[in-house]
Amino acid sequence: MITAIRDEKNRYRNLQNGQWVESRNDTYITIKSPIDDTVLGMVPAMSKEEVDMAIETAKKAQKQWRNVTTDEKAEILYRAADILLKYKEELAELMVREISKDRKSCYSEVERTADFIRFTADTGKNISGESIPGDSFPGGKNNKVSIVRREPLGVVLAISPFNYPVNLAASKIAPGLMAGNSIVLKPASQGCLCGLYLARAFQEAGVPAGVLNTVTGKGSEIGDYITTHKGIDFINFTGSTEVGAHISSITSMVPLLMELGGKDAAIVLEDADLELTASNIVAGGYSYSGQRCTAVKRILVVEEVADQLIEKILPKLEKLTMGNPLDRDVDIVPLISTNAADFVCELIADAKEKGAKLLFGGNREGNLIQPTLFDNVTTDMRLAWEEPFGPVLPIIRVKDKDEAIKLANESEYGLQSAVFTQNINNAFYVANKLEVGTVQVNNKTERGPDHFPFLGVKASGIGTQGIRYSIESMSRPKVTVINLS
Ligand code: NAD
Repeated sequence: MITAIRDEKNRYRNLQNGQWVESRNDTYITIKSPIDDTVLGMVPAMSKEEVDMAIETAKKAQKQWRNVTTDEKAEILYRAADILLKYKEELAELMVREISKDRKSCYSEVERTADFIRFTADTGKNISGESIPGDSFPGGKNNKVSIVRREPLGVVLAISPFNYPVNLAASKIAPGLMAGNSIVLKPASQGCLCGLYLARAFQEAGVPAGVLNTVTGKGSEIGDYITTHKGIDFINFTGSTEVGAHISSITSMVPLLMELGGKDAAIVLEDADLELTASNIVAGGYSYSGQRCTAVKRILVVEEVADQLIEKILPKLEKLTMGNPLDRDVDIVPLISTNAADFVCELIADAKEKGAKLLFGGNREGNLIQPTLFDNVTTDMRLAWEEPFGPVLPIIRVKDKDEAIKLANESEYGLQSAVFTQNINNAFYVANKLEVGTVQVNNKTERGPDHFPFLGVKASGIGTQGIRYSIESMSRPKVTVINLS
């Protein structure tokens, strides 16, 4: 399948109006593997004029697409899911190289995405409106009824991050299409080859020309241009809080859905099952080297059980494997870029300098950083508040659940938190007070299953995703009031 979207010189094309088109100005961005710097391909650095064309095309095509029956839309999505699975190996192998993720996770991301697309088709077919009688409001009359249906928003700009280049792009495309919108996908530079591949699966499945278009290019040249483009009716963004805040500061009158950064806390109470807690913290904090929005990013543990928890965590850290994901499945992989690794090392150095106790790791070889654990982290350290997006976890000791809640809520972020306790009253007590989108009880922080609502509060996001919620977010009620004589 990949041959359709690139030429013999490994130059990828963009999907525009149903065609895979080369760069019109012969300008490309080179995409290298973060594992070993091998060149994986080149993508067009699109100009503003090419962005205009993508959006205009999407605008025109949406007018027809909104009238395609829901059943036909669903059939296209089912086919897209089948196509993804058919090319699972090719796509997953590309993903391993492009974003330095272990092979097992890449295969499972493709499978999960196919499930996501299918479930979206099922859900879209079952979304219906409602009718509201007029006589239920005081003074209302029984000759009036409101019929509420859902209608699409128009052109959705889907901006995806590097870390789940297939799943997080599909989680905007599939519900957006099902709601009757057309889509302009702007994938992250690292991960964009996988994004183009995904677009090809939708096109091959029968998404009509112009209904899905892709845009690749330099953020500095087209980023602000595309997000403030008058042809865009909705922006569905996943990425860092920094970029999300920038986009929301320069846009006006365009609704936004934003899934941003996090500093998810694992809160460990005195009555926790410590073995289960330790397993979840290690899996939640270190898989894909911590490069997940919902990774566990700090441990707030009640002093009374802190030493016992550490005793359970350390042997599990010893067992984590590190290295090149092309050679074998490893837990700790080279980070996405040298800048990302430098940033993680800054946080490590700051914690060391300010007196945190290094319990494990702390070393770096190229972009590969050892799984690292600090104890006695205090609130003056950057690691207490900043999102490393790397394999580093701080332990902050607290005296009780109230102090844990206070510290958890002092974060600017509010994506998820986990609470570990065997007492249901404690679980609810903590869950009710945490300022986050989701609280996981006795489990690591994580996204999914994908039909659950998923959202961040405070600096972690605006709006709600999750299959039905995403379809609703990318559509609006259309009200027709029938007045009988
Ligand atoms: P990023 O913010 O650097 O990039 C995200 C996307 O924004 C990319 O496509 C990038 O090209 C684009 N972009 C950058 N500048 C832009 C501009 N001026 N205009 C328009 N687009 C622009 O994020 P990343 O490094 O790809 O991903 C990591 C971050 O994403 C972390 O902070 C992580 O927590 C967050 N994330 C959040 C979720 C969630 O669901 N909450 C999921 C995954 C990742």
